[in-house]
Amino acid sequence: MRKAIFYTHHYEVRLPPGHRFPMQKYRMLHQALVQSGLAAEDELLPAPLAALWEIERVHTPAYVRAFVDGSLPPSLERRIGIPWSPVFVQRTLASVGATLEAARTAMVTGFGAALSGGTHHAFPDYGEGFCVFNDLAIAATMLLEEYGVHRIAIVDLDVHQGNGTAAIFQDHPAVFTLSIHAANNYPFRKERSSLDIALPDGCGDGQYLEALDRALEGVAQFEPEVILYQAGVDVIREDRLGRLNLSLEGVYQRDKKVLQFAYIRNIPIVLTMGGGYGNPLEQTIAAHLRTYSAVAEIFYRCSSAERIC
Ligand SMILES: [Zn+2]
Repeated sequence: MRKAIFYTHHYEVRLPPGHRFPMQKYRMLHQALVQSGLAAEDELLPAPLAALWEIERVHTPAYVRAFVDGSLPPSLERRIGIPWSPVFVQRTLASVGATLEAARTAMVTGFGAALSGGTHHAFPDYGEGFCVFNDLAIAATMLLEEYGVHRIAIVDLDVHQGNGTAAIFQDHPAVFTLSIHAANNYPFRKERSSLDIALPDGCGDGQYLEALDRALEGVAQFEPEVILYQAGVDVIREDRLGRLNLSLEGVYQRDKKVLQFAYIRNIPIVLTMGGGYGNPLEQTIAAHLRTYSAVAEIFYRCSSAERIC
């Protein structure tokens, strides 16, 4: 079976010199996936733009229109943290489109992936922390409305709490939100997820994976029909914005647990990228490759060394 991994860097956003968001990581990961044999070039597909009405299932029309038109108040633009430009609008719409396409793919094949997304700090009427629109929430709402799904779990393992997602689905009976994050990290005002696990600074592989096992028991009790996975790799020790201490092997074990959880229960799973701000950035790419190694092993039964499936 062939993979379908939707990317967004056909819209190339150029940030001012010294900007701390590593926009180049998307293209770097694309190249690394192909070079490592974890994906074939034709398994990587340019994401279509999401329609505004799809985004407005979660976000207020006033916010959506203001972002698209370039008429956001400066305070809201600053809160997002990435300067507005027409190509940033396109890239943002493609990022939502990538997650929507990955979700539709997962409903057919059991697995779909976006080489972007996981923008979990976006709230209905504003964005923050490099997040404009909440692709996870938009995809979850699409699945509830278009696919007759009744229970969705959003598993958010980015080092930062999924505050936007938690707020959007607070008390929503059809969506279970899990966030495992660093207690002392952004956002400093946390929202309430269905299940939050806040980890101490410097937390390593062992403690992290134990916490994940406990959390997945909670997800299992909810009996989700679909899982949206925010697989942020800012949990690694080389990350500039994380405070945890995971190794690359720890990321691999983490992602194997989540993917295996879905696979053995026949639950479609949608993979999004989430955060990663490594110094050097190559470590972030290496961590994302571990995620895709786990994907290959569990869903495609092959390793990068033997691309026969
Ligand atoms: Zn993050």
